[in-house]
Amino acid sequence: NQQIQLVSRPMGEPTHDNFKLVEVPVPELQDGQVLVKHLWLSLDPYMRGRMNDGKSYAQPQPLDEVMIGGTAGEVVASKHPDYAPGDPVVGMGGWQLYSVVDGGQRGMMRKVDTTHVPLSHYLGAVGMPGVTAWVGLNHIIAPKAGETMVISAATGAVGSAFGALAKARGCRAVGIAGGPEKCAYAVNELGFDACIDYKAHPDLKSLSKALKDACPDGVDGYFENVGGMIMDAVMLRMNAFGRIAVCGMIAGYNGQPLPMANPALILVSRLKVQGFIVSEHMELWPAALKELGTLVGTGKLRPRESIAEGLAAAPEAFFGLLKGRNFGKQLVKLA
Ligand code: NDP
Repeated sequence: NQQIQLVSRPMGEPTHDNFKLVEVPVPELQDGQVLVKHLWLSLDPYMRGRMNDGKSYAQPQPLDEVMIGGTAGEVVASKHPDYAPGDPVVGMGGWQLYSVVDGGQRGMMRKVDTTHVPLSHYLGAVGMPGVTAWVGLNHIIAPKAGETMVISAATGAVGSAFGALAKARGCRAVGIAGGPEKCAYAVNELGFDACIDYKAHPDLKSLSKALKDACPDGVDGYFENVGGMIMDAVMLRMNAFGRIAVCGMIAGYNGQPLPMANPALILVSRLKVQGFIVSEHMELWPAALKELGTLVGTGKLRPRESIAEGLAAAPEAFFGLLKGRNFGKQLVKLA
C-alpha cells in the first residue's frame, strides 16, 4: 500500500514539504473487516482547516498519519457478511491506495448503486458536497418559488448542485465564479440564470453593480462559499429578511484576514446569517441524496470533474483547489 501523510503543518499556503508519500503494509483482515481498493480520492477545501492545529469544529489531522479524505472504490476482500468482492463503496479511506474498514461501523462506509450514477459522482454531486448544497438551500435558506438565490464558487462541487436545486425550487439562480469560461458553463450547462465573473469586477462598487444587474429584484438567499469582498458585494444587494447560509470562506483558508465591510447591513436588512456543517445534519442526508441521485440519474444535473492522475498528484491538485484551478469537483484517479 502507498499513502500520503501530512508531516508538517502549513504556515499559510500548503507546499509539497508538508506531505510525504510512504509505503506501508496492508494489515491482515480481521473478522468483520473489509479491504477496499480506492479508485477515486475526493479533494475538498475543508482539508486545509484540518491541517491546522487550532480550535475548530473538527479534530486536526494528526501528523505522520495518512491524510484523511473521502474515497470511492471497490471491495477486494471481505470478512463481513454485508460486503462482497466487487461491491462499489464510498467511505473515508484517506489519501492511500487501499484501506481496511470495519464493515459494522455505520457511517464509515456505504455501498452505492452505480447503475445510473457513476461511482465518482458519489464524492461530488451525489455525496457530501451535493448534500451540503441541499442542506444550505433547504434547511438554512428555505427558499420560496420566485425568489432569487445567489451562490459563490458557483461551478464547484457544491455550487453546481446548488444551481440545479435552486432551479428545481422555482427560484432565480445567480452564480459568482472566477473567469468567463466558468461563467459560461454555469449558464449553459448548469442552468444558472446568470453568472458573474468576479475577476472581471475587482472592486466592490463594480461587483455590486454587476449583482444589481443580474438580480433586478434583489437577493433573497445567499449561499456563501468564499467570504471577503464577494460577501460584501452580495450583502449590499440582500432584500429585507434575506437569509445567508455560511457554508465556507475559502478566501481565508490559508490564514488571509476576511474583514466584513459593512456588518450593519445585517441589522438594516434584518438578515438571518447562519453557519452550518453538513455532517451535523445526518438526518437530512437520505432525502438529499435521493433528490440529488435523481437529478444526476435523469441528466438534469451533469456535474463536471477535474481529474488528477495518480496518488502522488494529490497534493498539487489540492493546492490548485485552493486557487480555483479546479473546474468542478476535484478528484484524484488512482490507476
Ligand atoms: P469547489 O469545487 O467550489 O472548489 C473551490 C473553489 O473556490 C475554486 O474552484 C474557486 O472557484 C473558489 N475559490 C478558491 N479561492 C478563492 C478565492 N480566494 N476567492 C474566490 N473564490 C475562490 O469546492 P467545494 O464545492 O468542495 O466547496 C465549496 C465551499 O463549500 C468551500 O468553501 C468549502 O469549504 C465549503 N464546504 C463546506 C461544508 C460545510 O459543511 N460547511 C461542506 C463542504 C464544503 P472560482 O474559480 O470560481 O473562484
